[in-house]
Amino acid sequence: MKTLAEITAELAGYDPQSVHVTDVVATTCALVADLKADPSNHETVDIGDLTGRVLAQPVISPISVPPHDNSAMDGYAFAYGDWDGERPLRLTVAGQRLAGDTGLAEAPVETGACVHIMTGAVMPAGADTVVPTELCTREGDTVVINGGGLRAGDNRRFAGEDLQAGGVAVPAGQVMHAAAVGLLASLGINSAVVVRRPRVAYFSTGSEILSFGDAPRSGAVYDSNRWVMLSLLRSWGATPIDMGVIPDDPAQLAAAFTQAAAQADMIISSGGVSVGEADHTKAMMRQLGDVTFWRVAMRPGRPMAVGRVNGCPVFGLPGNPVAVMVTFLAFVRPALQTLAGAEPTPLPMAVARSVEKIRKRPGRTEYQRGVASLDADGSLTVSVLPNQGSGVLSGMVRANCLVVLSHEQPTVEVGDAVTIWWLDRFI
Ligand code: AMP
Ligand code: MG
Repeated sequence: MKTLAEITAELAGYDPQSVHVTDVVATTCALVADLKADPSNHETVDIGDLTGRVLAQPVISPISVPPHDNSAMDGYAFAYGDWDGERPLRLTVAGQRLAGDTGLAEAPVETGACVHIMTGAVMPAGADTVVPTELCTREGDTVVINGGGLRAGDNRRFAGEDLQAGGVAVPAGQVMHAAAVGLLASLGINSAVVVRRPRVAYFSTGSEILSFGDAPRSGAVYDSNRWVMLSLLRSWGATPIDMGVIPDDPAQLAAAFTQAAAQADMIISSGGVSVGEADHTKAMMRQLGDVTFWRVAMRPGRPMAVGRVNGCPVFGLPGNPVAVMVTFLAFVRPALQTLAGAEPTPLPMAVARSVEKIRKRPGRTEYQRGVASLDADGSLTVSVLPNQGSGVLSGMVRANCLVVLSHEQPTVEVGDAVTIWWLDRFI
């Protein structure tokens, strides 16, 4: 077996051309399995706990929605017949129907008559059109429709126009959010079969990394990455397995990878992926499994090792906290969505005008921390924070977006349009 030192030397010379970010997303998504494919990963969850969960099976509608033809307006239901929609039309009010009224066995509405009807009430037999109250003048038991260009069938909602009984109401793979939860409720369904949460093992690496309660020592820094990652994993629907801090020691690193692979669907580590003397992560991945690539043409985040250990996908993220966040958002998040059985989605994007010149080197994708806002005439503008150091986590707190400067993009001039990824609510 090759020694770690031999593998390290081999990897240092490997892939001098860093991988383009768009290829990375495709590769990382292909590396993970879709948990939804195996029914042993399915579980039934009550409606109150569905938010953020991924449907393992489609939800089939047991009923048609709406269940009956009904009125879309408060007004008068009548048979349009050969009326022209313009001439004033006088109708006799034969009855009244509120939403939820039962006792619907009235005789069909006759020509020349109408039923006073409220929004959501079942259409009376014989009527095909509803005239809104505001287009009418009521005189005792009669109502006069004052034209207004009403067409036959206006303001009538058809049974099943939203969903047909037996049809797919929500497809498998849907991430449940307020609207999807509401749709289930509208069908009288109070639970759904979802994919279990992906288990993601995480450890920080570095002999200089301190955990809370450790005695302070010179040259040491507190472990922020672990808390960033546990937070991101939870907000993106995973169950984190917190494996603590692993020092830069090959034996302990090997044990951590093996233990992680035995219990997780995905492994994430931070640190130790560069070319320093104590950077063992990628060589260890290669020794225990494989490294698909380990350099990405991006900033921050260039050193990042992606591969597998004992069949378990591994993301060896960089050590710097901002690089950890950016590589998570760009690559781990879509892979996690795929693992959880959903389609990978881009973060919400916008195009904003830069209020300043932004220095940018072509040949890599840059993610700069920015603050975007609407200016006085309502157009979106963005400025970047002064310190873009990849360890400066405070900038990630102040930023509300990342300015994404694509691979070939040169320096941005004042007023140029740039793409931003909104961060609010996503980190
Ligand atoms: P590395 O890639 O391991 O050389 O780490 C790069 C930089 O990130 C170094 O300054 C590390 O001290 C810092 N760093 C690595 N891991 C962490 C962590 N878990 N929390 C905070 N900073 C870290
Ligand atoms: Mg390190």
